[in-house]
Amino acid sequence: MAEGLTVQTVRGPVAASELGRVLPHEHVACDLFRVTRQMGLAALNDPDEAVRDLTVFKELGGGSVVEATSGGLGRKPGVLRSVSERADVHIVMGCGWYREPYYEEDMNKVSTAELTERLLIDIFEGEDGVRPGVIGEIGADREWVSGVEERVLRAAARAQRETGLGLILHAVKSEVGAWQLDVLEDEGCDLSRVAVGHCDTYPDVDYHERLARRGAMVMYDGNGPGDRLLQEQRVANAAELIRRGWAKSLLLSHDVCVLGMRERRGGPGYSYVLRQVGPDLIAAGVSEDVVETIFRENPLQLLVGRRPGDN
Ligand SMILES: [Zn+2]
Repeated sequence: MAEGLTVQTVRGPVAASELGRVLPHEHVACDLFRVTRQMGLAALNDPDEAVRDLTVFKELGGGSVVEATSGGLGRKPGVLRSVSERADVHIVMGCGWYREPYYEEDMNKVSTAELTERLLIDIFEGEDGVRPGVIGEIGADREWVSGVEERVLRAAARAQRETGLGLILHAVKSEVGAWQLDVLEDEGCDLSRVAVGHCDTYPDVDYHERLARRGAMVMYDGNGPGDRLLQEQRVANAAELIRRGWAKSLLLSHDVCVLGMRERRGGPGYSYVLRQVGPDLIAAGVSEDVVETIFRENPLQLLVGRRPGDN
């Protein structure tokens, strides 16, 4: 699938067929605490460690990482490019704005049209010579979409339609992802190019199935060894969603976003999904082929879309 289509990576366009196994929601460099100024929780600002963890990912057969750091999270295009070169792993950079507490003050004072324009300039011109290849993550802070978050979502939808890039949402601990899809749908956005991030923070497979029925991708991006019970539930829910026929809607990742998630600090690094979750799904009765489709093909649905006739 996806022959002839290319994905914009931090090292330039790459054929979609060359991406290999893709982690669809990670961070390589970001700062969750720039706004909240929580002390004691350091930003992800350790490129050497990122290279180390990405190298392990590559040794396990990994090929590409979608880096969903948007405005307010301290995006660092130059760091992404250098880490990508050193680890020889493709990185797809994000764009847009994260969620309301992370917005610059002027975000409330500009129109949807102005936001769309800013986003399009970023997508077409890039920053430090690096162009985004995906929109997001675009968030709702709480279980509702605030006024200014709705404007950002509308701008993201318009940019999605204009550029054909995929769109990653941040939607936690509630059914707010459905509300976000309503806004995107209102803008005529193709929901099959939208991934609802953090679905596993609201572990209700019926809700996930409703999102998938609308055409959206369901993202379980909290995979890791931290909480064994939660991880067992995550794998069981993934297997259940697959059993219900939604294997092609599922995306699996780690959302590495703080230093404690590096492999040497006991976190998932970028390898836990390939090393552990794949085998766990197979043990839960999912076929190897389906697992491989989830790793290779599903992220392409987000990044470039399926050709007509693909299913
Ligand atoms: Zn994230």
